[in-house]
Amino acid sequence: MAFDTHNHTHFSFDADMDIQEALRKAAQYQLNLILTEHYDLNERQDDGTPVDFEISQYFDTYSSYRGEHLLLGIELGLDNRPDYIARNRAIVEAHPFDMVIGSIHNLQDFDLYTDLAKNFLSKQDFFTQYLIYAEHTIHRNPYIDTFAHIDYPCRYLDYADNVLRYEDFPLLIDNFLSTLIENTICLEINLRLIDQSGFREGLESIVRRYRELGGCYVTIGGDNHSPDTIGIKYPLGAAMAKAYDLTPVYFKNRKRMVDEPMH
Ligand SMILES: [Zn+2]
Ligand SMILES: [Zn+2]
Repeated sequence: MAFDTHNHTHFSFDADMDIQEALRKAAQYQLNLILTEHYDLNERQDDGTPVDFEISQYFDTYSSYRGEHLLLGIELGLDNRPDYIARNRAIVEAHPFDMVIGSIHNLQDFDLYTDLAKNFLSKQDFFTQYLIYAEHTIHRNPYIDTFAHIDYPCRYLDYADNVLRYEDFPLLIDNFLSTLIENTICLEINLRLIDQSGFREGLESIVRRYRELGGCYVTIGGDNHSPDTIGIKYPLGAAMAKAYDLTPVYFKNRKRMVDEPMH
C-alpha cells in the first residue's frame, strides 16, 4: 500500500484528529499514513503559545501503532536564522523520526497564513521574495527528507489570481528545484489545492519542471487535519506523479522507500 505522508493529529496545534479514526479512514482507501506534527520554532499561536509538541509523549502515545500502516514523522517550520537551524537539526538528530518534512510557513517577518502585510506587495514581488527565500532556506536546511507544499502561500494570498506558475518565475523556480535535487530532497505533491482548477495546473507546471531538471522522487501528502479528507484526493496526486514519470516514496527510519503502486 502507498503512504499519505502528511498528516496531523491532536499533537498539532491546529488539529484534533484521532489516530484510530485516521487509520480506519486510510484503510478504506488502501493507504498507510505518516504522522507529521507541526513544530515551528519561528511561529507562535495567537495567545503566544509555541507551535510545538512534546516529542517524547508523541512517541510514547503512538509507539504501539507504529509499523506497517503508520510511521512517525514531523513537519518542521524552516527558517534562515542560524539558531533555529541548529535547534531544528538537534531535534531531528535527537529523536527516531521516520520522516522529516520541511515547510515554509513564515517568510522572514511575514506569517504567510495570517499576515496581511504580504498583500501590500505585488504578486510579482511577493513570489520573487518567497522563491528566493525558499531556495536559501533549503540550502541551509538540507537535512530534511521532503519539501512540503511549495504552493502554500497560494492558499492564503488575496490577489485576483493566486496561482504560482512555473512560466511566471522560471529562473527562480529552477534555482529552487535544483537546490532540492542537489540535496536529494523530495518534492511534495500536496493535495490541498490539487482538485481546484488553476491551482492544479500551477502545481503541475512545477512538478513537470522538477522532472525535467532531474528530480525522480515525490512524496504525496494530504496535509490532513481531520479524517474527512484522508484518501479522497490521493489518486489525483498519484496520477500527477505518474504523468511525469516520478516515483512516489515515503521514509522509514529516515530511509527512502518506494511506495507500492495503487490498484
Ligand atoms: Zn505545512
Ligand atoms: Zn502540515
